Amino acid sequence: MPGVETIDSIDAAGLALADFLRDHPRLLVITGAGVSTDSGIPDYRDAAGRWKRPPPVQHGDFMGSLAVRRRYWARALVGFKALREAQVGGAHRALARLEALGHVDTLVTQNVDRLHQRAGSRRVIDLHGRADLVKCMQCGYSMMRHALHDQLARLNPAFASLKAQHAPDGDADLETDFADFKVHDCQRCGGIFKPDVVFYGDVVPAIRRQQAEEGLARADAVLAIGTSLMVFSGYRLCRQAHERGMPVAALNLGVTRADPLLSLKLSAPLTAVLEDTLARLGGSR
Ligand SMILES: [Zn+2]
Repeated sequence: MPGVETIDSIDAAGLALADFLRDHPRLLVITGAGVSTDSGIPDYRDAAGRWKRPPPVQHGDFMGSLAVRRRYWARALVGFKALREAQVGGAHRALARLEALGHVDTLVTQNVDRLHQRAGSRRVIDLHGRADLVKCMQCGYSMMRHALHDQLARLNPAFASLKAQHAPDGDADLETDFADFKVHDCQRCGGIFKPDVVFYGDVVPAIRRQQAEEGLARADAVLAIGTSLMVFSGYRLCRQAHERGMPVAALNLGVTRADPLLSLKLSAPLTAVLEDTLARLGGSR
């Protein structure tokens, strides 16, 4: 099935999106890595939706292998700084303003950086969890990620001073011998600590999946922003919306998996389009 024609100028995209928002006041927005790239957080995929880099660690490998966990935490000790220091960007701010003006009912994000909340969005569902927390996979005890990193740095001073290119999700392109790295297990039960993030190969917790579906049940349309929707959990919401006869729009620089379902496709710089839309809706400051 051929998709709709893509609008690729900022002006025309802002106009079309403002109309879409006026026509659909109970909007469910899905966001992905593209809204956070201006904040210095790298993404995984190119404009064609292909991996730009080796795929991230799989849930089963992380849980099943101490060697994988050593490598993961050693790299995170270097790469997490980018996530920790990331600043709210224009797209986050524009979405928070649109929510404040009543144009966004639910914001489902696939990002784990919490930047939507820091920008002021309130109705946010962290579909894939949050990278600033770690959780014991055995007893459920959770702690702030930076506190665990402080412990890891104390246990592994030689690793803590290494430098490497930052990678998505607080990873870093560090290749070395990780055999001496000391991981930190749960101080309560000795279980495995894992970031409170849905890794590839894992499933979204039922409670968050349900919250997203409740948002979809309230919504009269879906808008996907800055995501190729290659991960099924986000794509599924678009497909469900389409099956219910709801319009689905996308604002993304590149293809999305939902392209054949779309009734509006915008491919222009996200922040510029969102700010233009905001101005047309009378919401620019
Ligand atoms: Zn525990």
